[in-house]
Amino acid sequence: MQLTNRKVVVSKKEQSFAERIYLPAIAKGMMITASHLFKKSPTINYPEEKRPIAPVYRGQHVLKRDENGAERCTSCGMCAVACPAEAITMTSGERKKGEENLYREEKYAATYEINMLRCIFCGLCEEACPKEAIFLTDRLVDVEFERNDFIYGKDKLVEKIDKRIDVTKRQTQAVLDFKKIPGLKHNELYDPKKLNTGNKH
Ligand code: SF4
Ligand code: SF4
Repeated sequence: MQLTNRKVVVSKKEQSFAERIYLPAIAKGMMITASHLFKKSPTINYPEEKRPIAPVYRGQHVLKRDENGAERCTSCGMCAVACPAEAITMTSGERKKGEENLYREEKYAATYEINMLRCIFCGLCEEACPKEAIFLTDRLVDVEFERNDFIYGKDKLVEKIDKRIDVTKRQTQAVLDFKKIPGLKHNELYDPKKLNTGNKH
């Protein structure tokens, strides 16, 4: 049965003497191999040596704290909804009196987990977050032997109070301008005209 109209004419050309003894082909192959001996090896001795990476490299996440050290995440779930790999899960907690220095808003993430084996490091969680709470960083996810160890909880994700992570390079000029507007809260739309008028909300 004919499946397509495509045809290939098969040539039955006789091999020449040089082709039959294979020596020229072997010599050509050896010359290619030898030429690579004098080229600089592209291999690097990781982790002693590290390749330069882009400032917006999408590596391990961080859950940011605000300028006073309180956790920014309000457990709204936007990142989990945006995540195409369904890698994020969380449970919410209600802030109690006296915990204002721990959590920025009344609701916070009591647990927050990212399954690094599911994550495809697309950065959509970072884009979806209305609180500037989650960012990807230039850190690499560690190698583990057990699958469960790739589920990162708050202990690994929340920024250490004495080891803050600078994410300003990841923010676009529009975001940085947005933050300059006095009194402007999160979740409000960016309007560059307000920058000039100093219009407060
Ligand atoms: S980087 Fe992408 S895949 Fe990974 S947790 Fe964020 S949204 Fe999900
Ligand atoms: S990280 Fe951002 S988007 Fe995700 S739950 Fe927290 S505040 Fe919401």
